[in-house]
Amino acid sequence: MFPQLLRSDAEPRPVIPKEGELFKIIELYGKTFEIRYGFYEERDRHNRYAEPVEIYPDFIEKPMYTDEGFPFITAIQTPCQNFVGEKNENSTCEECAYYQHCEELLAICRCPHNQKL
Ligand code: SF4
Repeated sequence: MFPQLLRSDAEPRPVIPKEGELFKIIELYGKTFEIRYGFYEERDRHNRYAEPVEIYPDFIEKPMYTDEGFPFITAIQTPCQNFVGEKNENSTCEECAYYQHCEELLAICRCPHNQKL
């Protein structure tokens, strides 16, 4: 009986996603983003304590734009030279005045200097 009581009081364990598992499909401005779980760093894959996380596109490496020419960005992206706001070494695009949040960590940069015409 005692072990059953222990089990019923125990917190349910959070489900750890598997690498490659789908997190979410996000549609924005006519583009579809399939966000899957994985590792940003190869070394994390071999770290027994590291869990797969949602992997967002690297828009610095592979830029994508809306039909109006505004670049897609992520909240965790390293700021560009057009950053407007109070910047420190940990700042990300999310803190910039041109950041326009869309869904999850996906966003649009509304900076006119970054708009592709
Ligand atoms: S201008 Fe755009 S890309 Fe540059 S830091 Fe601001 S939000 Fe990020």
